[in-house]
Amino acid sequence: MIPVTKPYLPPVEDYQKYIQGIWQRQWLTNNGPLVNKLELKLKNHLNIDHFLYLGNGTVALQIAIKALGLKGEIITTPFSYVATTSSIVWEGCKPVFVDIDEETLNLDPEKIEQAITAETTAIIATHCFGNACDIDSIQNIAKKYNLKVIYDAAHCFGTTYKGKSILDYGDVSTISFHATKLMHTTEGGGVITKDPKIVKRMAYMRNFGHDSPFKFNGVGINGKNSEFHAAMGLCVLENISEILERRKEQSKYYDVILKNLQVRKPTITENCGYNYAYYPIIFENKEMVVKTQKALEKNNIFPRRYFYPSLSTLDYVENPGTPVSDKISSSILCLPLYYDLSAEEQDFIARIMIRTQNYE
Ligand SMILES: *Cc1c(COP(=O)(O)O)cnc(C)c1O
Repeated sequence: MIPVTKPYLPPVEDYQKYIQGIWQRQWLTNNGPLVNKLELKLKNHLNIDHFLYLGNGTVALQIAIKALGLKGEIITTPFSYVATTSSIVWEGCKPVFVDIDEETLNLDPEKIEQAITAETTAIIATHCFGNACDIDSIQNIAKKYNLKVIYDAAHCFGTTYKGKSILDYGDVSTISFHATKLMHTTEGGGVITKDPKIVKRMAYMRNFGHDSPFKFNGVGINGKNSEFHAAMGLCVLENISEILERRKEQSKYYDVILKNLQVRKPTITENCGYNYAYYPIIFENKEMVVKTQKALEKNNIFPRRYFYPSLSTLDYVENPGTPVSDKISSSILCLPLYYDLSAEEQDFIARIMIRTQNYE
Protein backbone atom coordinates (compact mmCIF):
# COMPACT_ATOMS: atom_id res chain seq x y z
CA MET A 1 0.00 0.00 0.00
CA ILE A 2 1.25 3.49 -0.85
CA PRO A 3 -0.51 6.15 1.27
CA VAL A 4 -0.43 9.89 0.64
CA THR A 5 1.86 10.28 3.63
CA LYS A 6 3.51 8.17 6.28
CA PRO A 7 4.87 9.46 9.57
CA TYR A 8 8.64 9.62 9.80
CA LEU A 9 9.89 7.31 12.53
CA PRO A 10 13.36 8.01 13.94
CA PRO A 11 15.68 5.13 15.00
CA VAL A 12 13.90 3.49 17.95
CA GLU A 13 17.12 3.50 20.02
CA ASP A 14 17.12 7.32 19.92
CA TYR A 15 13.62 7.42 21.36
CA GLN A 16 14.39 4.78 23.98
CA LYS A 17 17.28 6.88 25.28
CA TYR A 18 14.90 9.74 26.02
CA ILE A 19 12.30 7.39 27.51
CA GLN A 20 14.85 6.06 30.01
CA GLY A 21 15.43 9.63 31.18
CA ILE A 22 11.70 10.12 31.64
CA TRP A 23 11.57 6.98 33.78
CA GLN A 24 14.47 8.21 35.90
CA ARG A 25 13.02 11.68 36.46
CA GLN A 26 9.42 10.43 36.71
CA TRP A 27 8.36 13.75 35.22
CA LEU A 28 5.81 13.11 32.49
CA THR A 29 4.22 16.45 31.68
CA ASN A 30 3.71 20.07 32.87
CA ASN A 31 6.58 21.98 31.33
CA GLY A 32 9.17 19.21 31.79
CA PRO A 33 12.84 19.26 30.80
CA LEU A 34 12.29 17.66 27.37
CA VAL A 35 9.57 20.18 26.52
CA ASN A 36 11.98 22.95 27.50
CA LYS A 37 14.77 21.39 25.49
CA LEU A 38 12.57 21.07 22.41
CA GLU A 39 11.42 24.69 22.69
CA LEU A 40 14.98 25.91 23.00
CA LYS A 41 16.21 23.78 20.08
CA LEU A 42 13.36 24.96 17.87
CA LYS A 43 14.02 28.61 18.72
CA ASN A 44 17.68 28.20 17.81
CA HIS A 45 16.99 26.14 14.72
CA LEU A 46 14.43 28.61 13.37
CA ASN A 47 16.10 31.72 14.73
CA ILE A 48 12.90 33.04 16.31
CA ASP A 49 12.35 34.99 19.54
CA HIS A 50 9.56 33.06 21.22
CA PHE A 51 8.12 29.61 20.78
CA LEU A 52 5.55 27.82 22.91
CA TYR A 53 5.09 24.10 22.42
CA LEU A 54 1.43 23.08 22.55
CA GLY A 55 -0.83 20.03 22.42
CA ASN A 56 -1.63 20.45 18.72
CA GLY A 57 -1.95 22.93 15.88
CA THR A 58 -5.66 23.50 16.48
CA VAL A 59 -5.30 24.59 20.10
CA ALA A 60 -2.46 26.80 18.80
CA LEU A 61 -4.93 28.64 16.54
CA GLN A 62 -7.48 28.90 19.33
CA ILE A 63 -4.96 30.29 21.80
CA ALA A 64 -3.66 32.77 19.20
CA ILE A 65 -7.18 34.06 18.50
CA LYS A 66 -7.94 34.32 22.23
CA ALA A 67 -4.62 35.95 23.15
CA LEU A 68 -5.02 38.64 20.49
CA GLY A 69 -8.52 39.32 21.83
CA LEU A 70 -10.15 38.87 18.44
CA LYS A 71 -13.88 39.46 18.10
CA GLY A 72 -16.36 39.92 15.28
CA GLU A 73 -15.30 39.04 11.75
CA ILE A 74 -12.06 37.37 10.70
CA ILE A 75 -11.05 37.26 7.07
CA THR A 76 -9.77 33.83 6.11
CA THR A 77 -9.12 31.38 3.30
CA PRO A 78 -11.59 28.73 2.15
CA PHE A 79 -8.70 26.60 0.87
CA SER A 80 -7.13 25.04 3.97
CA TYR A 81 -7.65 22.26 6.45
CA VAL A 82 -10.94 22.56 8.35
CA ALA A 83 -9.16 23.53 11.61
CA THR A 84 -8.40 27.01 10.23
CA THR A 85 -12.12 27.80 9.95
CA SER A 86 -13.43 25.73 12.84
CA SER A 87 -11.06 27.43 15.30
CA ILE A 88 -12.48 30.84 14.34
CA VAL A 89 -16.03 29.63 14.92
CA TRP A 90 -15.01 27.82 18.12
CA GLU A 91 -13.65 31.11 19.48
CA GLY A 92 -16.97 32.82 18.82
CA CYS A 93 -15.85 34.79 15.77
CA LYS A 94 -17.26 34.81 12.27
CA PRO A 95 -15.09 33.58 9.40
CA VAL A 96 -15.40 35.69 6.26
CA PHE A 97 -14.02 33.90 3.23
CA VAL A 98 -11.99 35.70 0.64
CA ASP A 99 -11.11 33.78 -2.50
CA ILE A 100 -7.63 32.45 -3.23
CA ASP A 101 -5.09 33.19 -5.91
CA GLU A 102 -5.25 30.59 -8.65
CA GLU A 103 -1.46 30.26 -8.89
CA THR A 104 -0.26 30.23 -5.27
CA LEU A 105 -3.50 28.80 -3.77
CA ASN A 106 -3.21 31.35 -0.95
CA LEU A 107 -5.53 34.19 0.05
CA ASP A 108 -5.74 36.72 -2.81
CA PRO A 109 -4.73 40.08 -1.29
CA GLU A 110 -6.52 41.98 -4.05
CA LYS A 111 -9.84 40.62 -2.80
CA ILE A 112 -9.27 41.28 0.90
CA GLU A 113 -10.11 44.98 1.11
CA GLN A 114 -13.60 44.64 -0.29
CA ALA A 115 -14.42 42.09 2.43
CA ILE A 116 -13.38 44.37 5.32
CA THR A 117 -16.25 45.80 7.38
CA ALA A 118 -16.48 47.74 10.66
CA GLU A 119 -16.60 44.35 12.40
CA THR A 120 -13.36 42.98 10.94
CA THR A 121 -10.60 42.47 13.51
CA ALA A 122 -8.12 40.14 11.84
CA ILE A 123 -6.88 38.10 8.91
CA ILE A 124 -6.08 34.42 9.37
CA ALA A 125 -4.21 33.18 6.33
CA THR A 126 -2.81 29.72 5.65
CA HIS A 127 0.53 29.31 3.90
CA CYS A 128 -0.99 26.48 1.92
CA PHE A 129 1.15 23.36 1.39
CA GLY A 130 4.13 25.29 2.81
CA ASN A 131 4.02 28.00 0.12
CA ALA A 132 4.23 31.57 1.43
CA CYS A 133 1.26 33.95 1.32
CA ASP A 134 1.80 37.37 -0.23
CA ILE A 135 3.02 38.52 3.18
CA ASP A 136 3.92 42.08 2.19
CA SER A 137 0.49 42.84 0.75
CA ILE A 138 -1.33 41.26 3.68
CA GLN A 139 0.84 43.22 6.10
CA ASN A 140 0.08 46.49 4.30
CA ILE A 141 -3.66 45.90 4.38
CA ALA A 142 -3.51 44.93 8.05
CA LYS A 143 -1.64 48.11 8.84
CA LYS A 144 -4.02 50.30 6.87
CA TYR A 145 -7.12 48.89 8.62
CA ASN A 146 -5.54 48.15 11.98
CA LEU A 147 -6.11 44.40 11.78
CA LYS A 148 -4.19 41.59 13.47
CA VAL A 149 -2.65 38.84 11.35
CA ILE A 150 -2.37 35.19 12.25
CA TYR A 151 -0.63 32.84 9.85
CA ASP A 152 -1.68 29.22 9.97
CA ALA A 153 1.76 27.87 9.17
CA ALA A 154 0.86 24.24 9.94
CA HIS A 155 2.58 23.09 6.73
CA CYS A 156 5.58 25.36 6.99
CA PHE A 157 8.38 23.76 8.93
CA GLY A 158 11.52 24.57 6.95
CA THR A 159 9.91 27.22 4.72
CA THR A 160 11.69 30.58 4.58
CA TYR A 161 10.51 33.99 3.39
CA LYS A 162 13.05 36.64 2.48
CA GLY A 163 15.74 34.48 4.03
CA LYS A 164 14.13 34.07 7.47
CA SER A 165 11.87 31.37 8.86
CA ILE A 166 8.36 32.07 7.66
CA LEU A 167 7.21 31.49 11.24
CA ASP A 168 8.70 34.86 12.08
CA TYR A 169 5.87 36.77 10.34
CA GLY A 170 2.46 37.99 11.50
CA ASP A 171 1.31 38.93 14.99
CA VAL A 172 1.27 35.21 15.67
CA SER A 173 2.17 32.21 13.51
CA THR A 174 0.93 28.75 14.41
CA ILE A 175 2.38 25.39 13.51
CA SER A 176 1.28 21.77 13.70
CA PHE A 177 3.52 18.85 14.60
CA HIS A 178 0.89 16.22 13.86
CA ALA A 179 2.27 12.84 12.73
CA THR A 180 1.34 13.58 9.11
CA LYS A 181 3.36 16.79 9.04
CA LEU A 182 6.92 16.98 7.80
CA MET A 183 8.29 17.77 11.27
CA HIS A 184 6.21 15.99 13.90
CA THR A 185 5.98 15.08 17.56
CA THR A 186 3.16 12.48 17.14
CA GLU A 187 0.63 15.12 18.21
CA GLY A 188 1.80 18.64 18.81
CA GLY A 189 1.85 22.23 17.72
CA GLY A 190 3.06 25.65 18.70
CA VAL A 191 2.74 29.40 18.55
CA ILE A 192 5.40 31.87 17.47
CA THR A 193 5.37 35.62 18.06
CA LYS A 194 7.79 38.49 18.41
CA ASP A 195 5.63 40.23 21.03
CA PRO A 196 6.78 39.43 24.59
CA LYS A 197 3.40 40.49 26.01
CA ILE A 198 1.47 38.18 23.71
CA VAL A 199 3.78 35.25 24.40
CA LYS A 200 3.29 35.74 28.14
CA ARG A 201 -0.47 35.78 27.75
CA MET A 202 -0.33 32.63 25.61
CA ALA A 203 1.91 30.91 28.17
CA TYR A 204 -0.72 31.50 30.87
CA MET A 205 -3.48 30.37 28.54
CA ARG A 206 -1.71 27.12 27.73
CA ASN A 207 -1.65 26.20 31.43
CA PHE A 208 -5.21 26.96 32.65
CA GLY A 209 -4.17 30.53 33.44
CA HIS A 210 -2.05 29.34 36.38
CA ASP A 211 0.20 32.04 37.81
CA SER A 212 0.93 29.94 40.90
CA PRO A 213 -0.85 26.87 42.27
CA PHE A 214 -3.47 29.17 43.81
CA LYS A 215 -3.47 32.21 41.59
CA PHE A 216 -4.78 32.69 38.07
CA ASN A 217 -3.99 35.21 35.40
CA GLY A 218 -7.04 35.20 33.12
CA VAL A 219 -8.94 32.36 31.55
CA GLY A 220 -6.92 29.43 30.28
CA ILE A 221 -7.18 26.01 28.72
CA ASN A 222 -5.08 22.85 28.75
CA GLY A 223 -2.81 23.48 25.77
CA LYS A 224 0.25 21.69 27.17
CA ASN A 225 2.16 18.81 25.69
CA SER A 226 4.00 15.90 27.32
CA GLU A 227 7.59 14.70 27.72
CA PHE A 228 6.85 11.71 25.47
CA HIS A 229 5.75 13.97 22.64
CA ALA A 230 8.71 16.29 23.14
CA ALA A 231 11.02 13.23 23.04
CA MET A 232 9.63 12.25 19.64
CA GLY A 233 10.10 15.84 18.49
CA LEU A 234 13.74 15.89 19.60
CA CYS A 235 14.41 12.64 17.70
CA VAL A 236 12.72 13.85 14.50
CA LEU A 237 14.38 17.26 14.68
CA GLU A 238 17.75 15.50 14.80
CA ASN A 239 17.06 14.23 11.24
CA ILE A 240 15.20 17.23 9.85
CA SER A 241 17.74 18.30 7.23
CA GLU A 242 17.69 14.79 5.73
CA ILE A 243 13.88 14.78 5.80
CA LEU A 244 13.74 18.13 3.99
CA GLU A 245 16.41 17.10 1.48
CA ARG A 246 14.61 13.87 0.69
CA ARG A 247 11.27 15.68 0.09
CA LYS A 248 13.02 18.00 -2.33
CA GLU A 249 14.69 15.15 -4.27
CA GLN A 250 11.42 13.21 -4.51
CA SER A 251 9.54 16.32 -5.67
CA LYS A 252 12.12 17.04 -8.35
CA TYR A 253 11.89 13.43 -9.46
CA TYR A 254 8.08 13.68 -9.78
CA ASP A 255 8.65 16.80 -11.90
CA VAL A 256 10.76 14.77 -14.32
CA ILE A 257 8.65 11.64 -14.58
CA LEU A 258 5.36 13.56 -14.79
CA LYS A 259 6.48 16.17 -17.29
CA ASN A 260 4.19 14.80 -20.03
CA LEU A 261 1.14 14.71 -17.81
CA GLN A 262 -1.36 17.46 -18.50
CA VAL A 263 -1.54 19.04 -15.08
CA ARG A 264 -0.15 22.15 -13.49
CA LYS A 265 1.56 22.80 -10.19
CA PRO A 266 0.96 25.75 -7.86
CA THR A 267 3.42 28.61 -8.33
CA ILE A 268 5.87 29.14 -5.51
CA THR A 269 5.59 32.68 -4.18
CA GLU A 270 8.42 35.11 -4.86
CA ASN A 271 10.95 35.27 -1.99
CA CYS A 272 9.73 31.93 -0.62
CA GLY A 273 12.21 29.16 0.15
CA TYR A 274 9.84 26.23 -0.28
CA ASN A 275 9.98 23.18 2.01
CA TYR A 276 8.47 20.66 -0.45
CA ALA A 277 6.01 19.54 2.21
CA TYR A 278 3.44 18.28 -0.31
CA TYR A 279 3.22 17.45 -3.99
CA PRO A 280 -0.08 18.95 -5.19
CA ILE A 281 -1.09 18.84 -8.85
CA ILE A 282 -4.07 20.51 -10.47
CA PHE A 283 -5.98 18.76 -13.24
CA GLU A 284 -8.11 20.35 -15.94
CA ASN A 285 -11.31 19.18 -14.31
CA LYS A 286 -12.87 17.13 -11.57
CA GLU A 287 -13.55 14.13 -13.84
CA MET A 288 -9.86 13.71 -14.54
CA VAL A 289 -8.99 13.76 -10.81
CA VAL A 290 -11.62 11.19 -9.98
CA LYS A 291 -10.53 8.96 -12.85
CA THR A 292 -6.86 9.21 -11.85
CA GLN A 293 -7.62 8.60 -8.19
CA LYS A 294 -9.67 5.51 -9.07
CA ALA A 295 -6.90 4.10 -11.26
CA LEU A 296 -4.32 4.65 -8.50
CA GLU A 297 -6.55 3.15 -5.83
CA LYS A 298 -7.02 0.05 -7.94
CA ASN A 299 -3.26 -0.35 -7.59
CA ASN A 300 -3.30 0.24 -3.85
CA ILE A 301 -2.03 3.82 -4.11
CA PHE A 302 -3.90 6.37 -2.04
CA PRO A 303 -3.35 10.01 -2.97
CA ARG A 304 -5.61 12.54 -1.21
CA ARG A 305 -7.77 15.31 -2.52
CA TYR A 306 -6.36 18.06 -0.28
CA PHE A 307 -8.34 20.23 0.25
CA TYR A 308 -11.69 18.96 -0.91
CA PRO A 309 -14.33 20.21 -0.53
CA SER A 310 -13.66 23.93 -0.22
CA LEU A 311 -14.32 25.12 3.35
CA SER A 312 -16.90 27.55 2.00
CA THR A 313 -19.24 24.56 1.73
CA LEU A 314 -19.22 23.87 5.51
CA ASP A 315 -22.76 24.03 6.86
CA TYR A 316 -21.87 26.28 9.81
CA VAL A 317 -20.41 29.16 7.82
CA GLU A 318 -21.65 31.70 5.30
CA ASN A 319 -20.63 31.07 1.73
CA PRO A 320 -20.01 34.32 -0.10
CA GLY A 321 -19.04 32.53 -3.32
CA THR A 322 -15.40 31.64 -3.82
CA PRO A 323 -15.22 30.27 -7.37
CA VAL A 324 -11.44 29.91 -7.52
CA SER A 325 -11.27 27.91 -4.31
CA ASP A 326 -14.23 25.79 -5.43
CA LYS A 327 -12.58 25.02 -8.75
CA ILE A 328 -9.14 24.25 -7.30
CA SER A 329 -10.64 22.11 -4.53
CA SER A 330 -12.45 19.92 -7.01
CA SER A 331 -9.50 19.48 -9.36
CA ILE A 332 -6.47 19.07 -7.07
CA LEU A 333 -4.71 15.92 -5.95
CA CYS A 334 -1.78 15.50 -3.55
CA LEU A 335 0.52 12.66 -4.56
CA PRO A 336 2.21 10.33 -2.08
CA LEU A 337 5.25 11.99 -0.51
CA TYR A 338 7.07 10.70 2.55
CA TYR A 339 10.56 9.85 3.69
CA ASP A 340 10.84 6.24 2.52
CA LEU A 341 8.85 6.53 -0.71
CA SER A 342 11.18 4.96 -3.29
CA ALA A 343 11.97 6.08 -6.84
CA GLU A 344 10.49 2.78 -8.08
CA GLU A 345 7.24 3.55 -6.29
CA GLN A 346 7.23 7.03 -7.82
CA ASP A 347 7.80 5.48 -11.27
CA PHE A 348 4.88 3.12 -10.69
CA ILE A 349 2.60 6.03 -9.68
CA ALA A 350 3.65 8.07 -12.72
CA ARG A 351 3.08 5.17 -15.13
CA ILE A 352 -0.47 4.66 -13.92
CA MET A 353 -1.24 8.38 -14.10
CA ILE A 354 0.11 8.81 -17.62
CA ARG A 355 -1.67 5.69 -18.83
CA THR A 356 -4.93 6.94 -17.33
CA GLN A 357 -4.61 10.32 -19.02
CA ASN A 358 -3.60 8.95 -22.41
CA TYR A 359 -5.59 5.80 -22.91
CA GLU A 360 -8.59 5.62 -20.66
C1 LIG B 1 -2.81 19.96 10.33
C2 LIG B 1 -3.38 21.31 10.20
C3 LIG B 1 -3.95 22.00 11.29
C4 LIG B 1 -4.23 21.33 12.60
O1 LIG B 1 -3.14 20.84 13.26
P1 LIG B 1 -3.33 19.66 14.35
O2 LIG B 1 -1.97 19.57 14.96
O3 LIG B 1 -3.72 18.43 13.60
O4 LIG B 1 -4.38 20.11 15.31
C5 LIG B 1 -4.35 23.30 11.11
N1 LIG B 1 -4.22 23.92 9.92
C6 LIG B 1 -3.72 23.29 8.85
C7 LIG B 1 -3.59 24.04 7.56
C8 LIG B 1 -3.31 21.95 8.94
O5 LIG B 1 -2.85 21.31 7.85
